[in-house]
Amino acid sequence: MFELLGDWKRTDYCGSLGIKDLGREVILMGWVHSKRDHGGLIFVDLRDREGVVQIVFNPQVSKESHTKADLLKDEWVIAVKGTVVRRPDETINPNIKTGEIEVIARELRILNRSKVLPFPVEDEIKVDELIRMKYRFLDLRRPVMRKNLMLRHEVMRATRSYLDSKGFIEIETPYLTRSTPEGARDFLVPSRLNPGEFYALPQSPQLLKQTLMISGFDRYYQIVRCFRDEDLRADRQPEFTQIDLEMSFVTEDDVIEVVEGMIKAILKATKGVDIDIPFPRMSYDEAMLRYGTDKPDIRFGLELHDITEVFRNSEFKVFSDPVKKGGIVKAINLKGKAQHLSRKELDELTEFAKSLGAKGLAWIRVSGDEWQSPITKFLSEHEKKELKRLLTIEDGDVIFFGADTSYTVNLVLSNLRLRLGNRFNMIEQNRFAFLWIVDFPLLEFDKTENRYVTMHHPFTSPKEEDIELLDTEPEKVRARAYDIVLNGVEIGGGSIRIHRSDIQRKLFERIGLGEEDAKKKFGFLLEALEFGAPPHGGIALGLDRLTMLLAGASSIRDVIAFPKTQKGFCPLTEAPSPVDPKQLLELRIRVDVKER
Ligand code: ASP
Repeated sequence: MFELLGDWKRTDYCGSLGIKDLGREVILMGWVHSKRDHGGLIFVDLRDREGVVQIVFNPQVSKESHTKADLLKDEWVIAVKGTVVRRPDETINPNIKTGEIEVIARELRILNRSKVLPFPVEDEIKVDELIRMKYRFLDLRRPVMRKNLMLRHEVMRATRSYLDSKGFIEIETPYLTRSTPEGARDFLVPSRLNPGEFYALPQSPQLLKQTLMISGFDRYYQIVRCFRDEDLRADRQPEFTQIDLEMSFVTEDDVIEVVEGMIKAILKATKGVDIDIPFPRMSYDEAMLRYGTDKPDIRFGLELHDITEVFRNSEFKVFSDPVKKGGIVKAINLKGKAQHLSRKELDELTEFAKSLGAKGLAWIRVSGDEWQSPITKFLSEHEKKELKRLLTIEDGDVIFFGADTSYTVNLVLSNLRLRLGNRFNMIEQNRFAFLWIVDFPLLEFDKTENRYVTMHHPFTSPKEEDIELLDTEPEKVRARAYDIVLNGVEIGGGSIRIHRSDIQRKLFERIGLGEEDAKKKFGFLLEALEFGAPPHGGIALGLDRLTMLLAGASSIRDVIAFPKTQKGFCPLTEAPSPVDPKQLLELRIRVDVKER
């Protein structure tokens, strides 16, 4: 029953045929997407990577192909020779690209058959993601997944062509490397030739790209895989791809300008969208104040208001106690929604706040002149007046409060803001709202480690005018760092680097990394910095997240061909897996775990 391709050469993709091809003789190859038998005529939707086209098997055109077409089942692989014709008016399908035409088959070759699929090749399917991942080769046949991977390709292509046009050179850095701690755990690879020693898979090419600047390459980029052995919270992958770049003799503005141009080119190439540049910039302090997060979604308002001062000496202990301990009080005014929030929903929001670490969620529902709330009776007239003024409270508003450490208040209210924004459809869809966050603190105090740690990585330069504060008020030192945020998702970050070895040493010291340790970990960088290191800086953008947002996908797994589960497992290849004892012997590794 099966036939060979023989001398047939495909002339077209199914999905790219159209009116322009009327009358042409074509040879198509692909998968039987569906088959219908209509009073003697057999219709097959034939699918390839570009889409679907309707093939008509008519016994009067070819008895033999019609008889063979009768055997076809979904997902069989066939080749068809035929003529492109206009569909009868009543059968035109405006919903598909090829809906105005069909192909009258004259010859059919059946190339392979298929078992019945565990799920249909359709966009909307109700199937567990694990099954989709186990049968990824089928999952990737679904139009939505195919489009996502093609979009990813377009993003990479636009990136390369833009950066090439700006004089960047793509240089590969090794995957078998020395560990460059960026805060996460390394994946280790044992070295057979050096028993007992390990390579690390790179968390990022940070040190090597800086080294390339010292070598004089001036403008480097790489679309590069990075590896971080973290517990996979939410939407993370143990390996992910970055658009990584580094430039010499530049300031923040130069890096930002390149990235804006690149993103503009990517959006134009992939979505046909002309995005306005430059993107707005906001300081870290302002973002934290107004949105409670350093990655605000600026597509809607619902901002946070700091009302700490109103309650500093309040009788209402729930608010004044946290302030006395150095905390803050903030509020959100959800305008005009009092009628739309039931008591039940307010209780749900309270539970939500508690799940994020709040002790509760104080609220006020405003109805006419009345403030309906369990807390109103504790507020003084002056406090009420101040609230009214600062939050422009009117009839119909709902006010939410957070009073705790600034960390908890910001965490709770920023998430509440997003939840309310979604709940009341306040977030403008189909908009790409980019934002730079700048003026980050260089250091933050880590209570568990009882020392300062860097907010980005330890190669980030402090602002020149703040260097003196390193010794006196370290938390006041601002970094020459910038993050880029799209619709509330951080899609990248970078900085101007330290290019002087004395300052680099000083910073290591400041974060409690002794000279010996620093030398052990970053010796080669410290040494290279002594040999004429130019001022330099760069950035890395998460290709997976960027593509996810452009695709409108809800998970990065949907824009990665072969992703892993939350447990770092690949259901398709079943990696990781135990290995042959011989392999371990060669590596001189003894595994000490109980049976899995
Ligand atoms: N290496 C940094 C990262 O992976 C980005 C950078 O500073 O360029 O987050």
